[in-house]
Amino acid sequence: MSDNHAQIAGVSVSLDHWIDGKRVAGADRFATASPIDGSHLADVAAGGQADVDMAVDAANRAFPAWAALGAKGRQPILHGFAKEILARADDLAAVETADNGSLLQGNLHRMVPRAAQNISFFADWALTLLDHKIEHEEVTNNVRYDPAGVAALITPWNAPLMLTTWKVGPALAAGNTVVIKPPEWAPLTCSLLAEIAEKAGLPPGVLNVVQGIGEIAGEALVNHPDLARISFTGSVPTAKIIGQAAARSVTPMSAELGGKSPFIVCADANLDAAAQTVAGQYINAGQVCLAGTRILVEAKIEQEFLAKVRAAVAQMNVGDPRAATTRVGPLIHPEHFARVSGFVDRAKASGAELLWGGSQSDAGALYFQPTMFAGVAPDAEISQQEVFGPVLTWQTFTDDEEAIAVANGTQFGLAGTLFCGNEARAMRIASQVVAGTLWVNCFFVRDLAAPFGGSRVSGIGREGGTWSFDFYSDIKNIAVRKGSFTAGGA
Ligand code: NAD
Repeated sequence: MSDNHAQIAGVSVSLDHWIDGKRVAGADRFATASPIDGSHLADVAAGGQADVDMAVDAANRAFPAWAALGAKGRQPILHGFAKEILARADDLAAVETADNGSLLQGNLHRMVPRAAQNISFFADWALTLLDHKIEHEEVTNNVRYDPAGVAALITPWNAPLMLTTWKVGPALAAGNTVVIKPPEWAPLTCSLLAEIAEKAGLPPGVLNVVQGIGEIAGEALVNHPDLARISFTGSVPTAKIIGQAAARSVTPMSAELGGKSPFIVCADANLDAAAQTVAGQYINAGQVCLAGTRILVEAKIEQEFLAKVRAAVAQMNVGDPRAATTRVGPLIHPEHFARVSGFVDRAKASGAELLWGGSQSDAGALYFQPTMFAGVAPDAEISQQEVFGPVLTWQTFTDDEEAIAVANGTQFGLAGTLFCGNEARAMRIASQVVAGTLWVNCFFVRDLAAPFGGSRVSGIGREGGTWSFDFYSDIKNIAVRKGSFTAGGA
C-alpha cells in the first residue's frame, strides 16, 4: 500500500485528490485528527491552484459525453453508484465517525442510506422532467432541463458524506460534472466516495475531488472561470466570500447556511413527544444546522414541560460516538470547542441562568455537556448567534403573536419545529414563522421531493425534487408555433 493511504477505523482510505479518474498526490499536506480522542488520523493532500485547474479541466473534458448520455443513460450508472454506497455502508459510517465524531449508529442507519438515496432519487427524478410541455394558444413551449457544465461543490464537516451526495446526486443527474472540495476537518469519506464512484463505472472526470483548506483550495475553486454552478453548504461568513467570487463571474450559486431555529411548544401539545424531541436537539453535540436551539414554551406549562425535558436530557449520554448508547459525541475540533465555550462563558457572564450543563464533560477533551440557558434577553448573543454546539436557550410565551415574534427575531430562517395539539392553531403559527422548513409534531423528517433551504441569511435558493434541477440545469424553452411544420421529424 502506498504512503498516501491510511488505515482509518480499519478501512484503507486514499489521502490524495481524485482527478480525472486518477489519484493525484499534490504538493502539500494537511493533518486531520479524530475528535473522539484527538488522535492524528492522516495527512491529506492540500490542494492549490494547480490541482483545482487540473480538476476543472478534467470535469470540462468529461462534460460533453456525460451530458450526451441523457437522463435515461445516466440513470443506471447513478443507481449503480447508489448501490455501491450501500455496499460500503460499514466502511463509510466508521470513517465518518472517526473523522468528525458523529454517531456511528446514526451514520450507519440514517446518513449512509440517505447518501445512497441522494444519488438514486435524483437519477429517477430527472426522468420526470423530460417532455415537459406548456401549451399556449399560438405555441407549444417545450421546456428542457439541459446540463449546465461543471459544478463546484463545497461542503462542511458536520455531515460531509450526506451533504456532498445531496449535491452530487442532482448535479450528476442533471448531466453536469463535478469538482468536490471536502471540508478540511473531515475530508475522508469524500475520498471513499471517489473510490466508490470509480467502482460504479462513472467515467473519469465526471466526479473529481480536490482536498484542501477552504481559503486556498476552496477559494481557487470558486474563482475558477470555467464553472457553471457553485453549490455551497456552510457558514454565513464563508457564503459572503464565495458570493463575491460568484458575482464576479456571474456564476449561479446556491447556499445552505446556518440557523438559530425556534422550537415552539404549545400547552396542548403531546408534551412527552415534545420533550424527547427537545432532548434530541443535542444529538451530534448540536452540530446540526437544522437544530431547534431556541426552545419557546407556552408559559402555563413551563414547569411541567421543564421537568419532562430535564428527564429526557438526563438520558442523553455523552461519550464515544462509536458506542451504541451514546447520544452526544464530541465537538469537531479544539478551535470549535473554544468557540462553543466562548459563547457559554459570555452567556454566563451576562447573567443568563444555567438550567443544566455549561462546561466540558468528563468524557474527554472535546466533549461538552448538554447545556440549557434560561433568562436570556431576546437580543442577547446567546439568543441570536448560531453556537453549533449542545447549547439551547429556554424562553416562554403567553400568546401566539409573542411566540411568532420571538421565533422570527433573528437574522436566520433555516427551520423551525412546532409541537401543538390544535391543527388550525398549528397551521396559523407555522405559516407565520419565517423558515425554509417548519416541522409540526415531528422533527428532521426529510422527503427529497420537498423543497429544502433557508430564508434570510440561512441560504439562497431551494433544493429537493425539481427545485434541485432548477438550480443545476440550464432551463431552456423551445417555443414552437403550432401547426408550422410541413414535415414531422424522423
Ligand atoms: P465553513 O463555512 O467554515 O466551511 C464550509 C466549507 O467551505 C468547507 O469545506 C471549507 O473548507 C470551505 N471554505 C471555507 N472558506 C472558503 C473560501 N474562502 N472559499 C471557498 N471555500 C471555503 O462552515 P463549517 O464550519 O464547515 O460548517 C458549519 C456551518 O455550516 C454552520 O453554520 C452550519 O449551520 C452550516 N450548515 C448548513 C447546512 C444547511 O443545509 N443549511 C448543513 C450543514 C451545515
